[in-house]
Amino acid sequence: MQKNEMVTVTIEDIGVNGEGIGKVDGYTLFIKDAIIGDVVEAKIMKAKKNYGYARLMKILTPSEDRMETPVCPMARKCGGCQIQEMKYDRQLKFKEEKVRGNLIRIGEVPEELLAQTMEPITGMEPSEGQEQPFHYRNKAQFPIGTDKDGNVIAGFYAGRTHSIIPNTDCALGVEVNEEILTCILKFMEEYQIPAYDEERHKGLVRHVLIRYGFTTKEIMVCLVINGNKLPHSEILTERLAAIDGMTSITLSINKEKTNVIMGNMIKPLWGQTYITDYIGDVKYQISPLSFYQVNPVQTEKLYGLALEYAGLTGNETVWDLYCGIGTISLFLAKNAKQVYGVEIVPQAIEDAKNNAKINGIQNAEFYVGKAEEVLPGYYKEYAREHGGETAHADVIVVDPPRKGCEESLLRTMVDMQPEKIVYVSCDSATLARDVKFLRGNGYEIQRVRAVDQFPHTVHVETVVLLSQQKPDDTIEIDLDLDELDATSAELKATYQEIKDYVLKEFGLKVSNLYISQIKRKCGIEVGENYNLPKSENARVPQCPKEKEEAIKAALKYFAMI
Ligand code: SAH
Repeated sequence: MQKNEMVTVTIEDIGVNGEGIGKVDGYTLFIKDAIIGDVVEAKIMKAKKNYGYARLMKILTPSEDRMETPVCPMARKCGGCQIQEMKYDRQLKFKEEKVRGNLIRIGEVPEELLAQTMEPITGMEPSEGQEQPFHYRNKAQFPIGTDKDGNVIAGFYAGRTHSIIPNTDCALGVEVNEEILTCILKFMEEYQIPAYDEERHKGLVRHVLIRYGFTTKEIMVCLVINGNKLPHSEILTERLAAIDGMTSITLSINKEKTNVIMGNMIKPLWGQTYITDYIGDVKYQISPLSFYQVNPVQTEKLYGLALEYAGLTGNETVWDLYCGIGTISLFLAKNAKQVYGVEIVPQAIEDAKNNAKINGIQNAEFYVGKAEEVLPGYYKEYAREHGGETAHADVIVVDPPRKGCEESLLRTMVDMQPEKIVYVSCDSATLARDVKFLRGNGYEIQRVRAVDQFPHTVHVETVVLLSQQKPDDTIEIDLDLDELDATSAELKATYQEIKDYVLKEFGLKVSNLYISQIKRKCGIEVGENYNLPKSENARVPQCPKEKEEAIKAALKYFAMI
């Protein structure tokens, strides 16, 4: 294969970034915007020894999974939507498989266990009259620039670049975005307010941030400027304030030469400095700098699931690590005895405290700091104050950024022996890594579910419930042993048959974990990773002698040993 060569490729697979994958004479090609089932003509752009990247030139035979008419004509150029041309059902399947694949490959979770515990992905309802969901984002940040004719433009960055392609009508954002941007661009033309020029670090208006409260219909506009003041701002605010729902107009001062969009200083121009919105019946005040989930419809489902997995009865002590403005904490607080939230951004913790107050929630406390420092610190301090007694939590919820949790944090979590750990994740690869640690340290997956917060992108959220394996726990997963290893002649009785025998003959209840331990001890093959501790200091409960004898008797009875 050589650069610029044209090839015909049948797309057979999909990569983690949504790209199509196909082979030509055994040589693997990655082709952006191509979909499984497409036959395409592609041009080789980069050829490595064993694989290469090609550009989609022409779709020869479209896949059944391809949308007949893509909704946004900009989808391919834009860096925002990677898989918009794929039918929504197929997008969901891709995301679910990505989560499953990562848990199996990186997390070393047995496939059988996932077959029993993974629930179908929670997708989003399509927009009215559409096959796919659109206009779901409550937040948009449009870069402002100048085109080659000197006109000010607002739009989006072309994939992996910083050149702005004009578009004021992103299909993922709310419809009012366009009206707001048109108003701002017209004002800038009229009053000759220069757009920011990233390369020369000159000009004034860098970005426009728009937030919309789906429940309250309140709108926030924040102009990010490379200066302290926006000339004629009173004219702009007067015009923007006329838009129905306008609640907050502010400036964010960012004079740095940086890719970071927002500056830390917020100056009020008109109205409040925040908007209010609801998730379920919890009210949140959101300021320009706060983190807030972008898809409120799906967020309610996500938090609802986290709450369901936490299975609270009202008596629990719960930790919500990486709590942001307290969104999950407050959702849980109503059903718990006490919630502690930990978050690294001080402003977010201020918001969290305020959000607790406006909801009349008194059983939530918040700490600023790194989760991996605050929790171990608390744990040590508690032991010191209580004569060596260890701090206990009933439920720990974590919702870390993409890089996942530090091992030191996971270790303290395990030390606190919560009955349940609910892991909310926006990156299933780091989730899988952390799940591997937790499974190796006495926790087992009970439920897993992906939630699509970001239709048309390759991103997906996942919620996992892990519970502590107590000695007498029955793991509620019954493996079909024929599936596990159909060829092994040694596998005669199922786990259930062994359990039934032990109960009948010895009056003892035994778990799958114990059975697998004793089978392994007797040299009988069990699924490779099944119930095997993953690290040296694993806290997997060990089968007591009495039960070991009973299980051995069953194995003998079934002629397995
Ligand atoms: N649970 C919240 C926020 C989740 S996003 C919600 O759903 O709204 C992840 C959060 O983790 C962000 O608010 C980020 O500021 C915070 N964060 C990042 N690194 C952290 C760390 N080491 N310790 C604590 N919080 C951290």
